[in-house]
Amino acid sequence: MTDALTIPAELLPHDGRFGSGPSKVTDAQLAALAAAQPGVLGTSHRQPPVKNLVGDVRRMLAEFFALPEGYEVILGNGGSTMFWDAAAFGLVRERAQHCAFGEFGAKFAKATSTAPHLAASSIRTAEPGSVALPVAEDGIDLYAWPHHETSTGAIAPVLRPAGAEGALTVIDGTSAAGGTRLDATQADVYYFAPQKCFASDGGLWFALVSPAAIARIEEIAASGRWVPESLSLAAALTNSRLNQTLNTPAVATLVLMRAQLEWMLAGGGMEFTAARAERSSGILYDWAARTAWVTPFVADPAHRSPVVTTLDLADDVDGAALRAALRANGVVDIDPYRKLGRNQIRVGVYPAVDPEDVERLVASIDYVAARLPR
Ligand SMILES: *Cc1c(COP(=O)(O)O)cnc(C)c1O
Repeated sequence: MTDALTIPAELLPHDGRFGSGPSKVTDAQLAALAAAQPGVLGTSHRQPPVKNLVGDVRRMLAEFFALPEGYEVILGNGGSTMFWDAAAFGLVRERAQHCAFGEFGAKFAKATSTAPHLAASSIRTAEPGSVALPVAEDGIDLYAWPHHETSTGAIAPVLRPAGAEGALTVIDGTSAAGGTRLDATQADVYYFAPQKCFASDGGLWFALVSPAAIARIEEIAASGRWVPESLSLAAALTNSRLNQTLNTPAVATLVLMRAQLEWMLAGGGMEFTAARAERSSGILYDWAARTAWVTPFVADPAHRSPVVTTLDLADDVDGAALRAALRANGVVDIDPYRKLGRNQIRVGVYPAVDPEDVERLVASIDYVAARLPR
């Protein structure tokens, strides 16, 4: 029974959380949560302590992303999934083009394609493990793709498509934001949720919005289109400028996020976190390169994610047994994306993960694999 196997303590990661979201929350963040009591937690989100907290997070995000002139940080409840619906209501004028090369990109494409007030979207697809890129097309007023497709571990460039002037570029940065480099001028909307690189809990969305995106939000809000209030980007914009949300936000999530942003900025900001994630994922890709039974799922090295490493296992390695044995030893959530259905491990190495723990993860996997029946 491999799940009864005990990995020696000297091999085990100090922290065994390698999930791709929710992901590892650090002890420093939990200490910040405890220290935030009682002034913030359990108090009104319409009063200065919580509004200042929201203001801190907005300001720190602006600093982290070196926000271009005129851009703003807005937020709302519901996570990235809710942002897709908000965008279908409040950002697409008539017709969107989507690149879909995994679960998340496909879900946003579905949201705009099925919206009765919009024309059917143009959808460019690519096989999981590769990426599809946008191409300028007549009649498209919004181009959307994920910066990083978390379900497959494929990363795409964030560059405005040539010939798409006047259209918005809208990027899902949910799992890339905070752990990869970004030139924010290349997107009109770059949205994300806090439970990936920012090591917080889920339930909120954040977006960096350009002046063109703000103009589009205002244009559609004034057009008479029916928009549910809870999905109104115009309402999110107004509330965000007041460091508020339309309805009550998860305050603890914001406290955890502020603490992680403090750590990220103190370390040197985007360059620090991106280099740290690259170091961690590099350990895994190097291991794959020297291990016959491990192959990166993303064939093109240029599209291999620095934050979520997807590694196929040889057919004679029982991935489920391997993951079960690791889980029994406290090393968790390296399962492949459920709908991908591959014999694979998917390792989230967001900035909160210590590269030394990634070395230990590799040692632990090798230890278990050597003891699995082959
Ligand atoms: C996790 C994830 C989402 C979904 O985020 P929620 O906050 O759970 O809605 C969307 N897009 C990408 C790229 C993700 O990684």
